[in-house]
Amino acid sequence: MNPSDNSRRRFIANAGAASGALLVGGCGQGEQAADHQQQTGISVKQQNFKWKMATTWPRDLPGAGTGAQRLADNIRAMSNGRLDITLYSAGELVPAFEIFDSAASGIVEMGHGAAYYWKGKVPASQYYASVPFGMTALESNSWLYYGGGIELWHEIYQPFGLIAFPGGNTGVQMGGWYNLEINSVADLQGLKIRMPGLGGEVMRRAGATVQNIPGAEIFTALSTGTIDATEWIGPWNDLAFGLYQAAQYYYYPGWQEPGSTLECLINQQAFESLPEDLQEIVRIACQSINMDMHCEYTARNQQALDTLVNQHGVELRQFPDEVLARLKTLSQEVIQEIADGDEMSQKVHASYFSFMEQVRKWTAKSEEVFLQHR
Ligand code: CA
Repeated sequence: MNPSDNSRRRFIANAGAASGALLVGGCGQGEQAADHQQQTGISVKQQNFKWKMATTWPRDLPGAGTGAQRLADNIRAMSNGRLDITLYSAGELVPAFEIFDSAASGIVEMGHGAAYYWKGKVPASQYYASVPFGMTALESNSWLYYGGGIELWHEIYQPFGLIAFPGGNTGVQMGGWYNLEINSVADLQGLKIRMPGLGGEVMRRAGATVQNIPGAEIFTALSTGTIDATEWIGPWNDLAFGLYQAAQYYYYPGWQEPGSTLECLINQQAFESLPEDLQEIVRIACQSINMDMHCEYTARNQQALDTLVNQHGVELRQFPDEVLARLKTLSQEVIQEIADGDEMSQKVHASYFSFMEQVRKWTAKSEEVFLQHR
């Protein structure tokens, strides 16, 4: 057994634990390939595949958009052109929020987005993007790769004929742009803020008026006073968006998104129709872009933050401890309600939080203490 056999078996064993169909597909696929070769004289290893990847991102959005393109380019290069993936940005082939259905029905073979967009179809998907006050990028990747997270991810998507792999991470985001100072919990009352997802629900319970405004309209809403505050991503993306021209204070930390995972969705049948070496290339390319994006965010965020503070006079503010404590209590309520909603959410919730409880002890003794003293 060579190393790639090892990793392939590990993958099939991992995925198979969650998805019997994939395991069966893995065995049947060898027979199909042999039949195909007999009929056509062409080995699957000589076959070329053309795939489409639809994303939820604007073309060339720094990080998520450029990273998705890099993923496609890496797969093409590693497979010597045998798997050629064309990227379609939001709206080019299908609307941003239809990529899940499009990948499920096979209109596209792949999608790149964020799992919390599918909460209406799969409530448990919310654990696969970001959990307020949840795990950091490193902790969450540890859960995904070595704590059973990916296997459960395949399980929740199995009814849709999809599998998913982590495909990027923003790291800890920023708290957002504010035109009012937040000095106490009382300052959240009546605050008009744009914040999607679980963080938005937490803010609503804290007394804020939460608005969901599409990315393209945020700048105008903030500069005209329709909203007092907004969260977006982090310095690299926020600088490019020009948000410093519309708000005075830039708050941290991004309690609402402490390490947002981006997702690579794949039509399961399309994946299984690839020869095993191309499957492995796809899997490893996703793993590679997952780390690559996190590193690029980390590198560019500080450069951008320096520009925001030194060139644009942005005032950095840290949320008071009292405010973070209140938001954390409310976050726990909101997350518990997702878990209580359905059986799969309960299962993913239990896996996520039992992993977090054990890994946080290691983080506390390693990175936390070390960073305090560096
Ligand atoms: Ca965000």
